[in-house]
Amino acid sequence: MPLVNGKYRANNKDPRVPANEVPAEVRAKNFEPVDTGYTTEDALEEANRCLDCKKPMCVKGCPVGIDIPTFIRQIREEDFAGGLATIRESNMLPSVCGRVCPQENQCEGNCILNRTGNNPIAIGQLERFLGDMTESVGATPVCKPANGKKVAVVGSGPSGIACAGALAREGFDVTVYEAFQTGGGVLTYGIPEFRLPKAIVKREIDGLKDLGVKFEYDAVVGRLYDGDEFFNDMGYDAMYMAVGAGLPKFLNIPGENLPGVFCANEYLTRVNLMKAMDFPVFDTPIKHGKNVVVFGGGNVAMDAARTALRLGADSVTLAYRRTEKEMPARVAELHHAKEEGVRVMELVSPLEFEAGEDGFVAKVKLERMELGEPDESGRRRPVRVEGSEFELPCDVAVTAIGTNANPFASMAADVDLNKWGYIEADEDGKTSNPKVWAGGDIVTGAATVILAMGAGKQAAASIAKTLLGDDAE
Ligand code: FAD
Ligand code: SF4
Repeated sequence: MPLVNGKYRANNKDPRVPANEVPAEVRAKNFEPVDTGYTTEDALEEANRCLDCKKPMCVKGCPVGIDIPTFIRQIREEDFAGGLATIRESNMLPSVCGRVCPQENQCEGNCILNRTGNNPIAIGQLERFLGDMTESVGATPVCKPANGKKVAVVGSGPSGIACAGALAREGFDVTVYEAFQTGGGVLTYGIPEFRLPKAIVKREIDGLKDLGVKFEYDAVVGRLYDGDEFFNDMGYDAMYMAVGAGLPKFLNIPGENLPGVFCANEYLTRVNLMKAMDFPVFDTPIKHGKNVVVFGGGNVAMDAARTALRLGADSVTLAYRRTEKEMPARVAELHHAKEEGVRVMELVSPLEFEAGEDGFVAKVKLERMELGEPDESGRRRPVRVEGSEFELPCDVAVTAIGTNANPFASMAADVDLNKWGYIEADEDGKTSNPKVWAGGDIVTGAATVILAMGAGKQAAASIAKTLLGDDAE
């Protein structure tokens, strides 16, 4: 680290240390990580570019306010345990967030270096670097003594995990109820292994178990239990609803029920959770399409398209009704998908799927669109171009056009829902039921990992305050 007149001086004119990405032609054929992460030398070099700003704009861009300049300084000083502890004060899942947060719109998007014409600090890479050191530097937080209060957390995605961890540290007796056979929510069943290795999610769940959090899997709340049972029969003092927004939206066009047409939830769950890519070692099959068409433009569509490539497709087309500019996916995900060979087809919308002689989907009829006036989302509305129909061969189609709230868990908790079926909750996660808090996608609609986690942490603080009064910190 250069010192000038006894003061630290950043090498901020140096270019950003590049990510260690596996070449596209290699990685597109397997489910191994796309990016192997910074080495210690890379992390030190990149940390040296940070200006350690007095008014750090990066922190303003972080939804949970991580003290970014401090953890970067600690990397520079090679105090990796200290750096990890700094992040963990605000974010329990640095290995996850370092990999999947949309940093380009958050911390990195706000970094002052953007204004100097240089690349922002690679904050996500540095966060991931520290997060991945969890085992080597040892970072099991200490819990307060048991306070005798019981909380049920429903859903084990990032929001449930964050809430359960924060409550366990406060001395609560916490049990997480999860509908699936394993924990992690979208981190496990949605985001593919090549972007987020499942060993990392498992490590975080195991960390919660070390704090005393109990997990009940295959426990579909609203079918196995309802809110009254939790409070009257099972002795819970509070409940945190973090059931996500996993109900897929459908295109509602002819042929959507044909075999070979999947919604992205099913497609990704088969591969990620049920390991269908290793069929018959694992007993869930998946259709390996040759010509795959994925409909959508978000992260889910990118994950489905890149998964199809790794399952051996000859061609994968991402069909989107607007243009690349309006795609909600992370820029990095679109870039990676295109590098790997995914073809983007802009301004098209599907009309109908048609079956071949074997009864499976064989082609899709589409029509071209053009952009009209902006709609309520501020993006220009796609408008049909009359007489522009055409066909594409497709033996697997995946629809990734968004999700809705899954209604029955929320109904079981006896809380007010808004007109779209999401739970109404204030910024502390309080709902209309004084014993029930809620947060994450089931309140906001499909959003991000960091926002879901932030909501879980906020709700844990509110639950502690309500149940412990002045004894809560
Ligand atoms: P979830 O993660 O959805 O977890 C909810 C959990 O509740 C699930 O495990 C579910 O099984 C369980 N559950 C549901 N109903 C019940 C019930 N009745 N009883 C018991 N348990 C129940 N965000 C990013 O920031 N970056 C990304 O790159 C990114 N990529 C994504 C890719 C995909 C494929 C998907 C689907 C989403 C992606 N997201 C991404 C969004 C992000 O994952 C979500 O915003 C986040 O996971 C929401 O967290 P959550 O805890 O609210 O819900
Ligand atoms: Fe470092 Fe950028 Fe944050 Fe300034 S804004 S402290 S340069 S990461």
